[in-house]
Amino acid sequence: MSDCIFCKIVNKEIPSNVIYEDDVILAFHDLEPQAPVHLLIVTKKHIPSLDLIEFEDMEALGWLMSKVKDIAKNMGLDNGYRLVCNCGEDGLQTVNHLHFHLLGKRKMLWPPG
Ligand code: AMP
Ligand code: ZN
Repeated sequence: MSDCIFCKIVNKEIPSNVIYEDDVILAFHDLEPQAPVHLLIVTKKHIPSLDLIEFEDMEALGWLMSKVKDIAKNMGLDNGYRLVCNCGEDGLQTVNHLHFHLLGKRKMLWPPG
């Protein structure tokens, strides 16, 4: 999508600090980290939100999930981490390109705010 900021990051039209990349996904540092480690993991395909996943997206999303542990390990998150996906207005989703926040290196709160 031409006006999507994460598509622009995927296409290297705007800079990001990339941690992991393959044909299907990209992981990069969040601009406003909420934890000592705060990455965003996105599918390269523009999927607007968790609410709009289609059957054909399952392979990419399964692949993304399978890579989380490797990315976490590479970031040294040996004591655990949190994976967050905000969806829609109540979920406080601000970028409409499906992404998962990978947060670590601090103790998380539960329930989240
Ligand atoms: P969400 O509120 O779940 O939609 O998360 C969007 C996230 O994208 C926020 O944590 C922002 O800090 C982050 N963000 C927005 N623009 C950029 C950017 N250009 N590079 C990296 N992270 C960004
Ligand atoms: Zn996009």
